[in-house]
Amino acid sequence: MVKGRLQLWIWVLAAAAVLLLPVVDRIATGNAMADGQERAETTLRQTVNALDSYLRRYEALPTLLAQDEDILAVLADPGNKARIAAMNRWLAETNTLIEASDLYLIDLDGTTLAASNHDRTDSFIGQNFSYRPYFSRARDGGLGRYFALGTTSGVRGYYFASPIRDEAGMVRGVLALKIGVNAIEAGWRARDYRILVTDPEGVVFMSTDAGWLYRGLLPLTAERRERLAQTRRYADADLTELQVTPSATAGVNLMRLADGTGVMREYIATETPMPHAGWTVRVLLDTVPIHAQARLVVLAVALFLTVALLLAWVLAQRRARLAERLALQAAAQANLEREVAQRTADLTQANDDLHRMQADLVQAGKLAALGRMSAALSHEINQPLAAARNYADSAGLLIDRGDLPRAKENIGQIIALIDRMAAIARHLRNVARKPNEPLKVVDIATAVRDALVIAQARLTAAGAEVALDLAGNLPPVIGGPVRLQQVIVNVLTNAADAVEGRADRRIHLSATCTDHEVIVAIRDRGPGVAPGIADRIFDPFFTTKQVGSGLGLGLSISYNIMKDFEGDLRVANHPQGGAIFSLILRRATTGALAAE
Ligand code: ADP
Repeated sequence: MVKGRLQLWIWVLAAAAVLLLPVVDRIATGNAMADGQERAETTLRQTVNALDSYLRRYEALPTLLAQDEDILAVLADPGNKARIAAMNRWLAETNTLIEASDLYLIDLDGTTLAASNHDRTDSFIGQNFSYRPYFSRARDGGLGRYFALGTTSGVRGYYFASPIRDEAGMVRGVLALKIGVNAIEAGWRARDYRILVTDPEGVVFMSTDAGWLYRGLLPLTAERRERLAQTRRYADADLTELQVTPSATAGVNLMRLADGTGVMREYIATETPMPHAGWTVRVLLDTVPIHAQARLVVLAVALFLTVALLLAWVLAQRRARLAERLALQAAAQANLEREVAQRTADLTQANDDLHRMQADLVQAGKLAALGRMSAALSHEINQPLAAARNYADSAGLLIDRGDLPRAKENIGQIIALIDRMAAIARHLRNVARKPNEPLKVVDIATAVRDALVIAQARLTAAGAEVALDLAGNLPPVIGGPVRLQQVIVNVLTNAADAVEGRADRRIHLSATCTDHEVIVAIRDRGPGVAPGIADRIFDPFFTTKQVGSGLGLGLSISYNIMKDFEGDLRVANHPQGGAIFSLILRRATTGALAAE
C-alpha cells in the first residue's frame, strides 16, 4: 500500500522532470544567448572605439601638413623638376614619420603632382583622382574622407584629403593621405568573434573572414552598383551578394549566413554605425558553442533529476522493504504469542485433567482401602462378637444349672475375646498415630533385644530360630525406642509367618553401620515377596494372609514410622530364597540416650 503510493509519486515526478526538460532547455538557451549578446556588444564597442581612435589619429594631419609653404610653391610651378623632387622627398619622409600608407599632392584637375610613393612602379604621380569623392570634397574647400580599394595599388585604405589654400584663401590644390586597414583587420583574427565592417551601400570591406570581403549584405541594386562604379570605390573588384537570413530569438538578433567555405551558420548579430566614417560595424558570435553550453545545462539538470529520482527510488524501496520486514516480524510475533497462549491453555487443561485424575485415583484408592478395611474389621469383630454371644448364652445356661465353674470359664473366654477386639482397636489407633512426636536418640541393641522378648512367643510357636549378628559398638540412631521396637516386632512376626511350616525356619537378624546410617536387616527362609506385590505390601490393609490372620496394617505402620525417623524400610528377595527387610536409620551425632 505504502510502497505503491511512493512508486506512483516517483513516476509522477519522473514524468514531470521529462516535461520540465524543454523548459530548462528554453531558459538555458535564452540565458546563454543573452550572455552571448552581451559579450558580442562589449566586443563591438571595443572594436568601434579602436577603429575610431585609429581614424582620428590621422584626421587632422592633412590640414596641418597643407600649411607647408613649399606645397604652394610646387603648385605654382608644377614644371619645376627640382621642386617636385624635393616635394617627393618631403612627402616620403613625412609619410614614414606619421606611419601612413601614402601621402600625395594633387592639383585642381585631380592629377597627382608629387607622392610619397614616387619611386615605386605603381606610383600615384600622374594619376588622376578627380572621380574620388574625397578629392572633390577637398577641392570644394571641405575635408575629404573616403574608404576605397586603391585603383592603382589594389590595397584597401581610408583616404583623408584637405584643401591647400594660398594667402588669398583660394584653393590651389589638395593634399591627400591614405592609411591602410590590414593591420587592424589582422588584429581581429585572433578572436573567436566574426567582425564585419560595411560601407553605406552594405558592402563588406573589412572582415575577419576573407570570404566575406566585397560582398553585399544588402541587395546590390542597380542604383547601388551605379553609385559604386562612379566613385570606383572597389576599383574592378567583383561584387556579389551574401545570402543572409536575419531572425530573432528571446530578444536576441540572429543572422544566418554562409561562412567562407559556403556552410550556413547561425550567429548572434550586433551592429552599430560609425557616422563619421559612414560605416556600420557588426560583431557576430557563432551560436554553436552557445547551444552546446545550453545543452550542457540541460544535461546537468537531467542528470541531477535522474540521480535525485534514483535516490528517491532507492529510499522508497528501502522503506518499503523495512515496512515489509516489520510487518512480517509483527505477524510472526503475534503468531508466536497466539501459539504460546494456545499451548498454555492446553497445558492448563492437561494439568487440570491430571489433577482431576489424581484426585479420582486417590478417591478410588481410599474407597478400595475402606472396602478392604470394612471387610477385615467386620470379620475380625463379628467373629469374636458371635463367639462372645455363644459363650454368654452358654454361661447363662450353666448358671441356671448351677455349674458356676464352667460358667466362669465361659466368662473368661468372653473376656479373652473382648481383649482381642481391644487389641484390634489398639492397632487401628496406631494407624491414626501422631506422626510428629519428637525424635530421640536410641540404642539399636536394646531395641532389638526388647523386640525379641515381645516376639518370642510367636517365634517359638512358629518354630523359628533367630540368629543375632549385631556389630560391636553400634552407634546410636535417631528415632523413638518404643516405635522402633514395634517395627522390629512387626518384621520379625512376618518372618515367623513366612517360615512357619517350612523345613528351614532360620531367621537372621544383623545390624551394621556406615558413615551416616545403621542398617538392621532381617532375613528369613520363607517364600520371599512375589515381584507383582512388592510395591503394594507397604499399603495399608494389603495382605495375602487368610481372612482373620492379618489386617494388612503391620508393614504400612512400620513404613510410616521409619519415614518419621527420616529413615527407610525396604524389601528385597535374597538370591538363595527368602525375603530381606532392611530398616535404614540415621546415625545420631550428639545427645544422650533417651527412653520414650
Ligand atoms: P499382614 O501380616 O497382616 O498380612 P503386613 O502389612 O504385615 O500385614 O504384611 C503384608 C503382606 O506382606 C503380607 O500379607 C505378606 O504377603 C507380605 N509379607 C510380609 N512379610 C513377609 C515375609 N517375611 N515373607 C513373605 N511375605 C511377606
